[in-house]
Amino acid sequence: MKTLSAMAWLWLGRELDAWADMGKPANFWWRDDDVTGPGGALDRLVGLSYHWDTPLALAVIPSRLEPELVDFLRDRTLIAVLQHGYAHENHAAPGQRKLELGGTRASAQSIADLERGYRILEQQFADRFKPVLVPPWNRIDSQIVSCLSEIGFTGISTMKVRRNAYPAPGLLQVNTHLDPVNWRHLGGFIGIYPAIAILIQHLQARRTGYRDIEEPTGILTHHLVQNDAVWRFLEDLLQFLSNHPAVNWLDAATIWK
Ligand SMILES: [Zn+2]
Repeated sequence: MKTLSAMAWLWLGRELDAWADMGKPANFWWRDDDVTGPGGALDRLVGLSYHWDTPLALAVIPSRLEPELVDFLRDRTLIAVLQHGYAHENHAAPGQRKLELGGTRASAQSIADLERGYRILEQQFADRFKPVLVPPWNRIDSQIVSCLSEIGFTGISTMKVRRNAYPAPGLLQVNTHLDPVNWRHLGGFIGIYPAIAILIQHLQARRTGYRDIEEPTGILTHHLVQNDAVWRFLEDLLQFLSNHPAVNWLDAATIWK
């Protein structure tokens, strides 16, 4: 008898077969959050991206940027840089869930922070920086969203199926859908079956028209906190997806043209 995990991989393969039968590419993309500088874990992550020729978008925290990251990424052209808030500081009001962009901080201050962060990344990474905001904790006050285009942002990325491809004029939203980390046990793994079930559910909802088919399925990683079980799953997933002909990886430059 096959284990539940083995069945899950099989079902994922069948779902991707259905995309192949339909003649449509199953588009995926990959985002990693909380990036500040190079190190062993980032080496490992970027190594995986190159091994499987899979584009990777790093959400970098501007105020904590270590200059060595600029050199590290210089020739690694598979890797794009997105903006992860400004300082990844919590400004939530009492009783509110963690957020940097909103809460007790006035919108004008948040916008000034974002602008400062934008200039840092633009100056350091030139066109490797894609003007896409990844709000820390995947949360942002809606008032701020409507001001992002004025700063220069052309995209935003949070978590779960987007409600609207354009939450503000000129601002394309493409989210991530699978976060394999179990945040109740910091850095732990949610498990193979639950992780693959999330992927299948999203792919199936897109394929059958229940959800927006145009939003690529996004994988979210956190290289600094994820444990070995998450790393192993990520390695297996990249291998599995890379070997299926229906899978098409999109880079940030293609998503946010
Ligand atoms: Zn974060």
